[in-house]
Amino acid sequence: MRIVSACLAGIPCRYDGGDRCVPAIRELVERGAAIAVCPEVLGGLGTPRLPSERRADGRVVNTAGVDVTDAFILGAERAMALCREHGCTQAILKSRSPSCGRGTVYDGTFTGTLTVGDGVFARLLLEAGIPVRTEEEFPGDPIQR
Ligand code: SF4
Repeated sequence: MRIVSACLAGIPCRYDGGDRCVPAIRELVERGAAIAVCPEVLGGLGTPRLPSERRADGRVVNTAGVDVTDAFILGAERAMALCREHGCTQAILKSRSPSCGRGTVYDGTFTGTLTVGDGVFARLLLEAGIPVRTEEEFPGDPIQR
């Protein structure tokens, strides 16, 4: 079983009310091979919401300067609980997100600048030994294999 970012499965849960549907990932969910979660929604943040970024000190702050770290941590923990409940052994998450990004995230300056780091949920998964890939690591349709 996989756990995937809900926005990649076509659920309109992004901060701007949109999604980032990858048809192959949506199909995984539709045929019961993956569960879809949005850690930010699970943390109680509404949709749409102000965009947030992780700063170098690890805090997550939105464009109004509000520290939303606690909501991000709560959502990541709730998503992690669902991951365990469903026996997920791998994850496919949205790149560069402050929750779901793996390896690279925006740097907290809201200037489109990337830095090395993981989103809050991706970090929890990696610490639990669950491999995390991003949608960008699935060119074409290899996810079906
Ligand atoms: S928190 Fe993750 S699942 Fe939710 S909108 Fe952002 S990238 Fe997608």
